[in-house]
Amino acid sequence: KARTVLLATEKAFAADAVSKIEAVTSAAGYKLVRLENYKSKDDLLKAVADADAMIIRSDKVDQAVLDKAAKLKIVVRAGAGYDNIDLKATEGKGVVSMNTPGQNANAVAELVFGMMITSARNNYDGTSGFELVNRSIAFYGFGAVARAVHKLAQGFGMKSFAYDPYIPAEKIAEMGATPVATVAGLFEHQYVSLHVPLTAETKASINKELLMKMPKGGTLINTARCEVVHEADMVEVFKARQDFCYLCDVAPDDKAAKEAMTAAVGDKFGKRLIFTAKKMGAQTLEANDNCGVAAANQIVAFFEKGETRFALKA
Ligand code: NAD
Repeated sequence: KARTVLLATEKAFAADAVSKIEAVTSAAGYKLVRLENYKSKDDLLKAVADADAMIIRSDKVDQAVLDKAAKLKIVVRAGAGYDNIDLKATEGKGVVSMNTPGQNANAVAELVFGMMITSARNNYDGTSGFELVNRSIAFYGFGAVARAVHKLAQGFGMKSFAYDPYIPAEKIAEMGATPVATVAGLFEHQYVSLHVPLTAETKASINKELLMKMPKGGTLINTARCEVVHEADMVEVFKARQDFCYLCDVAPDDKAAKEAMTAAVGDKFGKRLIFTAKKMGAQTLEANDNCGVAAANQIVAFFEKGETRFALKA
């Protein structure tokens, strides 16, 4: 019987990406079942029963989903961050989990620059802004997205700094960024851009102490995950510093936290606080295509060749 690949996307891919995904699965003789823009978890629990493989985006794969997934062998997160997969649960069930590293990095990097320019030009409100040239940007995490931002920063004539204890300092220097030895060291720079995964180590790690160290015009950019920032501290920083800016693609999930942050800024043009309407760093034609097609190819390579290069560990 042909293998079934479930495309379970609470937030659907662009139609073009879906047809490209389907081209890959049908070339392998697999059936693609689409569960897009679903409204309740029950829909997912029903659909997963027949799936040999799953492609997801921010969709949660937890024990409840796995309990219904009798045939599931592999789940691929079409994207970078995989904090929505319960890796202990997938490992416990012998299901392989993967992400598609780097496939949306450029999309996120362009959004970072979009937000930086919007903020530097005061939301295009007619007043004088400033230029990015010669300013410094420091990266917390120097993986695929940070490197893509760094490449654009070089084009803008900015200076880059990076803290990533999992990458040797020499390698960071070779890529043209100055290695920084501690997280605190990042906050000496005007821009700090977050590119770490959400882990026990990074959760709520950006706090008041760090943010208060930033120089005048200190600007935090967050395209990683909202939970990396200590949200209550952020509210205090907004109240204590009139110059501090937060440019964010991952607004707090918690409505009260979002409102508290917005109220603390009290700036009707929102130039000190930019929230995208919803997480949209990876929402481009290209990133949808790249991530979706990579996910489909990884599933086919896994079944046909036992390829597990992108397998994730708990
Ligand atoms: P990546 O895996 O290529 O890079 C992550 C980097 O963080 C790695 O180099 C790793 O060594 C480093 N790191 C891990 N723990 C760290 C720590 N405690 N301190 C410092 N560095 C640490 O991932 P990526 O593609 O660059 O994406 C980064 C994160 O951005 C993802 O985990 C995801 O949460 C988020 N993201 C968001 C969007 C979006 O739509 N806004 C899109 C892509 C990625």
